[in-house]
Amino acid sequence: MEEILRELSKRIRKEQYETWFREFKLVGQKEDEIEFSVPSGFVRDWLNRNYLPEIEASVSAALGTQRRIKLSLEEAGTVAVGTEALATGTAASGGGGTDRAEGDLMTPRSPDAISPEVVSRAIQNIEGQGPTRPNGFEGAAVAGAAALPGTNGDLPFNTSYETKLNQNYTFEQFVVGPCNRLVQAAALAIGENPGRAYNPFFIHGSVGLGKTHLLQATCHAIRNKQGTPKVLYLSCEEFTNRFIKSITKGKLEQFRDFHRNVDVLVIDDIQFLAGKEKTQEEFFHTFNALYDDQKQIIISSDRPPLDIPTIEERLVSRFKWGLVADMEMPCFETRVAIVKRKGLCRGVDMPDEVAYYIAERIDTNIRELEGAVIKVLGVATITEREITEALAEEALRGVAVARSNQVTLDEIMNVITAEFCITAREITSKSRVQTVSMPRQIGMFLSRELTENSLEEVGRFFGNRDHTTVLYAVNKIKTRIKKDRMFRDLINSVTVRLQSPGR
Ligand code: ADP
Ligand code: MG
Repeated sequence: MEEILRELSKRIRKEQYETWFREFKLVGQKEDEIEFSVPSGFVRDWLNRNYLPEIEASVSAALGTQRRIKLSLEEAGTVAVGTEALATGTAASGGGGTDRAEGDLMTPRSPDAISPEVVSRAIQNIEGQGPTRPNGFEGAAVAGAAALPGTNGDLPFNTSYETKLNQNYTFEQFVVGPCNRLVQAAALAIGENPGRAYNPFFIHGSVGLGKTHLLQATCHAIRNKQGTPKVLYLSCEEFTNRFIKSITKGKLEQFRDFHRNVDVLVIDDIQFLAGKEKTQEEFFHTFNALYDDQKQIIISSDRPPLDIPTIEERLVSRFKWGLVADMEMPCFETRVAIVKRKGLCRGVDMPDEVAYYIAERIDTNIRELEGAVIKVLGVATITEREITEALAEEALRGVAVARSNQVTLDEIMNVITAEFCITAREITSKSRVQTVSMPRQIGMFLSRELTENSLEEVGRFFGNRDHTTVLYAVNKIKTRIKKDRMFRDLINSVTVRLQSPGR
């Protein structure tokens, strides 16, 4: 099996390999057939659809003969949510080994591990708990549903699992494009199979790209399942507030009892745990308890785990056990589809050219895109005019101006061609000679650093290349910047030139 996996890893890009083959196991083989098991129907379908040729080729290369490939589901009960498999996956991706030896995962500390002094220090430490709610709704409020039978009614937090969700944040309303297909597929798989598909599931991406929407869509999907699973969706702020209130009211034990006994725990905007040591510690133990019970944990953040400042190392490594997926700004076509969808939500079938106009204009994030749709519809209603491109232009005039000082892809191209004495045509050509490919990769890197364009958009701009090519280029340049001082200086000088006001 090792040989087959080695062959597979040669044929499949690392990120994809780690995502889809981490729990790929040999079940048995016959003369003309070889059978592997995978953890879910979703993964099986995905592999069948996308990776069958690579699997076949790897099997032939490893065994020296061709076999028919059979993919079956891992038997229920034998899947220990693959802690070993996940740990291996992390080791392969991080290169730094795993911290499974830390040893405390399987034995969460006893509930009284926090002493009274710690508690009082914690309360002193708790600053910035005020109304820092980032984006209105999600901070939110728990619905006033009935208290859980058998619990004490005067607990300082709501003991209903029915935390309020936005009814529009469903999978049906979530528009899928190349930029978010993988993360949406993973969320769907979790919705179908919580606790088994990927655990934890960590979504990151900058503000307004649909993290909350996807988290809540997953909650809706799980809540609609039979047996009414206990799905608890909390903003990080709400989790923190509950914890603090429970300490102050002497109800820590009840807090733990409740939060460690859910089927699915969803924490939105986990970056707000930064600097809140005691809440982090509590979350760490909550995480461990749930993970041990194979309960699903879903987390979102505005940046990758490693980039959250003052988040403990051990928490970061927990986040990486499962699937860490990032959300990108959707490409133009997907933005058009979103504009249309948002129009339909409001009962308007937006004309194509208006949708194109808005999608072209607004490429910062989807919340702004939605804001633009609302604005255009609003102006049309108030002025009783038809929704046309001219009207959209008028309505969005102020919005578009705000972005005029951003570096554009064209400017990056100009600077690169001047710096390396080559033409734009060469940059976008198929040529792979170093003198052309290196400047091209630098251009892709700068585009990702200095503009808001998605991987797809950058790829398309630099000669219709695939988003994985852009990702590869970005990583390559990053690595070289770290290792090579002269190279770093070069990149710095180009960056400075691009950012100077009179460029
Ligand atoms: P985040 O949590 O990442 O800041 P949100 O989930 O709040 O972003 O998304 C902002 C708005 O954009 C929401 O109204 C959401 O419905 C919408 N949105 C984001 N992504 C999509 C998508 N792929 N399809 C449809 N609407 C989307
Ligand atoms: Mg959000």
